[in-house]
Amino acid sequence: MTAETTPVATHPVPISLSPSSMGTFTSCPLAFRFSYIERLPEAPSAPASKGTLVHLALQRLLWRPPAERTIENALADLETATNELAAHPEFSELELTDEEWAGFHADAAVLVRRYFEIEDPRDVRVLGLELRVSAETAEGVVIRGIIDRLELDANGELVVTDYKTGSAPSEGWEQKSLAGVHIYSLMCERMFGRRPARVQLLYLSRPERIIMAPSDQSLRGVEMKTDAVMRAVRTACMRDDFRPRPSALCNFCSFQEFCPAFGGRPEEARPTLLARLAERQGRPQLPLAFV
Ligand code: SF4
Repeated sequence: MTAETTPVATHPVPISLSPSSMGTFTSCPLAFRFSYIERLPEAPSAPASKGTLVHLALQRLLWRPPAERTIENALADLETATNELAAHPEFSELELTDEEWAGFHADAAVLVRRYFEIEDPRDVRVLGLELRVSAETAEGVVIRGIIDRLELDANGELVVTDYKTGSAPSEGWEQKSLAGVHIYSLMCERMFGRRPARVQLLYLSRPERIIMAPSDQSLRGVEMKTDAVMRAVRTACMRDDFRPRPSALCNFCSFQEFCPAFGGRPEEARPTLLARLAERQGRPQLPLAFV
């Protein structure tokens, strides 16, 4: 008689997924391993930090009573957000020249001004900002995320809004971006017992609004996809099989120098990135045995 054994995973399986982790795994399993399993530190990037800054400015704007949601107050909120975030590593560790910092802040102000070309914030009936939401799928997979904004429309229906500070996507990428927002609809329905009537992406750089109405089919689709991604993640962890999948996203990947598709060695990623983090933070570097 042979004893049955349970295969032991080579990597720890994540306990939950998020729209961004699912997007990363689907785009490139190796980038997922670096980011979400090994949790390797990435140097902050100016576009991502600018997005954080603009999100906080708009959050502050919508905390205000509707009548006070003016462009002047939005720019004042941007300044407050700039001061609040200055000491955060996402900003303090950015290596920008004075000229680049000036461009960074000018761009952030342009994005805030463009927001007003998409909608009048005085009409937004805010229910929640930066809401932490989660849900469990039919197969017990936990998905978590943060909704930028949940509001009521003029008919009293729920609307989920996500701000995008990068450029508006091409048609192919549009569906991918909306897939993430549909997951928020699912979490919203599970948590609040009501399906949002609309999900919308506000692309501040264009400026442009992309709207979609979630349906039984779209929510069933994201639930099935979430379960399928988790099954694939578990298999990859079990087999230590996280293959690189080169695409246009490689141009924005923090791990490119360690990626075999670019002649790199994945095993060098952890010690190198931890040493760089210690250097950025001005801490003494730990001996390699500890990293
Ligand atoms: S460089 Fe491209 S293929 Fe390599 S890990 Fe990054 S996204 Fe994946």
